[in-house]
Amino acid sequence: MNAASETVRASNFVGGEWVGAGSGRTYQRENPAHLDEVAVIAPDSDASDVEQAVAHVAEGYREWASTPPEDRADVLLRAADLLAERADALAVELVREEGKTLAEARVETRRTPQNLRMYAGECLRLQGESYQAAGTAMVLTMRDPVGVVAAITPWNFPLNIPSRKLGPALAAGNGVVFKPSELTPLLGQRLVEALLDAGVPGSALALVHGHAEVGKALVSDPRVGAVTFTGSTAVGEAIHGNVPPWVRTQLEMGGKNALVVWDDADLDKAADLVSKGAFGLSGQACTGTSRVVAHERIANGLLDRVMERARAAVVDDGLRDGATMGPLANLAQHEKYDAYLRVGAADGGRLETPTHGCAPEGGYFARPAVFSGVRPDHRLAQEEVFAPILAFLTVSSYDEAIETVNATSYGLSAGVVTASLDTALRFARDAEAGVVKVNQPTTGLAMNAPFGGWRRSSTQTFKEQAGPSMMQFYTREKTVYLTPEDPA
Ligand code: NAD
Repeated sequence: MNAASETVRASNFVGGEWVGAGSGRTYQRENPAHLDEVAVIAPDSDASDVEQAVAHVAEGYREWASTPPEDRADVLLRAADLLAERADALAVELVREEGKTLAEARVETRRTPQNLRMYAGECLRLQGESYQAAGTAMVLTMRDPVGVVAAITPWNFPLNIPSRKLGPALAAGNGVVFKPSELTPLLGQRLVEALLDAGVPGSALALVHGHAEVGKALVSDPRVGAVTFTGSTAVGEAIHGNVPPWVRTQLEMGGKNALVVWDDADLDKAADLVSKGAFGLSGQACTGTSRVVAHERIANGLLDRVMERARAAVVDDGLRDGATMGPLANLAQHEKYDAYLRVGAADGGRLETPTHGCAPEGGYFARPAVFSGVRPDHRLAQEEVFAPILAFLTVSSYDEAIETVNATSYGLSAGVVTASLDTALRFARDAEAGVVKVNQPTTGLAMNAPFGGWRRSSTQTFKEQAGPSMMQFYTREKTVYLTPEDPA
């Protein structure tokens, strides 16, 4: 092992201190590109660790809530600076822990401080309203923090997604108990370290590592005022059933995103957009393209070009020069990929690209797989795989294209590639999705725009990332009536 591959020990942050799990138990997270290398050893926490963390933050967050908003903004700006200074080291750790390529990791380490800078501004933008009242009386509204926010996140953007939750939650003066994915404890911890180093008080922030047990205990704790979760639809739906009815939830979940390629599209550009959305991040982006819906007049030409790009992918350790796709995140992801290769064939799809015997060994590597001949009712067109498997569907009319795009229970991201403004506008109107892209990959989001899915991709109550409803999620509106003692 060289210095860069030494095992790192992660800790919980509970009660203002770095500690292990109360039980003393730990678990290991392997480097998904080198299974013989332990990237991180982390506390394997349980409900009693959560109980302590919530108790401490429920009591302690008021110190942070009463910090002047301009000072809270300064702290978030300092945290952003620290993350930017640490970006090179973070990018390498991200590759080792999660499996992205270094180039993909750098996009994330650059975006995360940018997010915190944007949320610093939100500290100063929180405002209430006043209403007409009789005489010298006043009626006004103010926005209070909700208290304790539970933040539960997936592994695929282990810095960026948590920053989109901890940033606005802290900007509003809340305390946060954060449970990162068990696959990426270290990157979750790096975000917390930067926030604490920048001046977030230890009374307002807790970090509890571990598995589903930790998340379950956290969302069902009655002292938690808001649950913000990003992850799979199955887990999101389970959380929905476990949260007390008075607690607000923001559940951002899975997708089965389609990119329509119309008969007037430039096929080389369209194939670039398809392969970026389908194979970027090794197919492990929530907004990744898992279905292509091609007009029959250009379907063969597009398929040839997408296959060319799939064959050209360099699947390898993300730290190696030239790697364009890192490994899948873990064994479960790899088993799912293998299972859906079988499902795709059993349903009658044709696997157009060789997948076995040509990926590197020693990690959870998977080559891009393109299935042609897929029909809308095939499982490959309905179920989220979260791997580089692309279902290729063919249609002959606009109505059939829209029907196909909307024929899943998800509604996260949908796109169209076309030279026609008319087709683009119709598509933007007709697609049943929270994000619609025209001549762009289904992946990639503007950080300053609202984000969230429709249907089973989201609770759809409050948007994440930006926009007017984002801070509403992290604050409670209070209506205050004021009358002078002597109203004369
Ligand atoms: P996951 O649902 O398995 O886990 C997400 C988090 O929930 C983890 O921290 C996990 O430990 C925790 N958890 C598991 N069971 C729990 C329970 N019963 N109660 C509370 N917490 C529990 O998801 P994942 O595998 O980490 O991530 C991949 C999924 O996330 C994909 O479905 C992807 O589409 C989705 N995702 C969605 C978005 C989005 O913004 N819509 C973004 C990224 C990823």
